Amino acid sequence: MSKIMMKTPLVEMDGDEMTRIIWKMIKDELLLPFINLKTEYYDLGLVKRDETDDRITMDAAEATKKYGVAVKCATITPNAARVKEYNLKAMYKSPNGTIRAALDGTVFRAPILVKGIDPYVRTWKKPIIMARHAYGDVYKNVEYRVPGAGTAELVFKNADGSESRQVIHEFKGPGVIQGMHNLDASIEGFARSCFAYSLDQKMDLWFSTKDTISKIYDGHFREIFEKIYENEYKEKFEAAGLEFFYTLIDDAVARVMRSEGGFLWALKNYDGDVMSDMMATSFGSLAMMTSVLVSPTGIYEYEAAHGTVQRHYYKHLNGETTSTNSVATIFAWTGALRKRGELDEIPELMAFADKLEEATLETIESGKMTGDLALITSIQNVEKLDTEAFILAIRETLEKKLGA
Ligand code: NAP
Ligand code: MG
Repeated sequence: MSKIMMKTPLVEMDGDEMTRIIWKMIKDELLLPFINLKTEYYDLGLVKRDETDDRITMDAAEATKKYGVAVKCATITPNAARVKEYNLKAMYKSPNGTIRAALDGTVFRAPILVKGIDPYVRTWKKPIIMARHAYGDVYKNVEYRVPGAGTAELVFKNADGSESRQVIHEFKGPGVIQGMHNLDASIEGFARSCFAYSLDQKMDLWFSTKDTISKIYDGHFREIFEKIYENEYKEKFEAAGLEFFYTLIDDAVARVMRSEGGFLWALKNYDGDVMSDMMATSFGSLAMMTSVLVSPTGIYEYEAAHGTVQRHYYKHLNGETTSTNSVATIFAWTGALRKRGELDEIPELMAFADKLEEATLETIESGKMTGDLALITSIQNVEKLDTEAFILAIRETLEKKLGA
């Protein structure tokens, strides 16, 4: 069987710990035997980031802008313990944060559904994709501990020197205050990414905020979404038979729980943070959740939603067997390869991505899976495999499907 050829390289961002090990296994066993894999490789492993004073992360982000599609392995976000462990020159920022800032993108998270791993919510039959705004609000706040009686005011100084003021609260005793902000440009980018991704996925778009209480702040999010929909996306949505639906967040939560799934749910930064953890858990496992960063101009970066699985990595270093789930990382690759195939018009590459996803799910459905899934599956007589054996089992299913 001849290997599938590629035209444009994928931007490949390698990462850290257990996911770095999985990364190599996936390439060796599931990709390189079948594809003439063309990538531009960036090592975002912490050692290389330290060597380059994190220049490598910016370079990878720039390459993503140039080529349009990237696939990323999970990476360590350094904290004090990591600075010590890796003897780092600095406490570098999160690579995901750096890339997100460079691409001005929105992160979409989608569960991978497989028979035998049942969502806790019985009505959910189709995936719910979450879109979380990634700028501002409480994540860029200014807080103040009010020591005692006094007046808190909200003051805005216009560029022309004039001022607008309003009283937040007349404190009779101690308390707390917080100031936060967002930007029209960022909310507009978020809205465009959501509309574009809905069209790409052929799914309805839901958006919810608390605009009954936060009339100006959340109300402005709603206005921007509605304006951009009317002016730029309404015709495309109607032509595709899709719906844009705005509702109060309380109502959205109730409807989501009763729904069958099968739509995209856009949320403000904090709402998306909290709801995506709930969603990942309800669908079964963090290791069965993919994540894609989409820029308003249509640049895509695919990854797994989980981290570097540090605890398993230390076991691995100790020579113990691990059973780390590679599904989300495999789906990051298939997402990127399918998108590359779509942009470069390589149907065989798109078909290969479909086959590899099917092979992965069929392997699990046949009872062969990693330990995290073995614990929660409704399938009987499960064979719990180690990290490598699971990938080899997928290869076997894939070869059968490809007739190799
Ligand atoms: P994590 O890597 O997501 O792992 C947390 C726990 O979830 C694991 O210990 C494991 O539970 C389970 N788990 C996650 N992925 C799994 C998989 N593929 N297969 C089986 N079990 C899985 O989070 P963390 O341990 O808090 O973070 C480790 C490092 O990842 C940190 O340095 C953090 O900065 C980084 N991180 C990176 C990203 C990213 O690059 N996108 C995202 C999040 C975190 P058990 O141990 O119980 O088996
Ligand atoms: Mg969270």
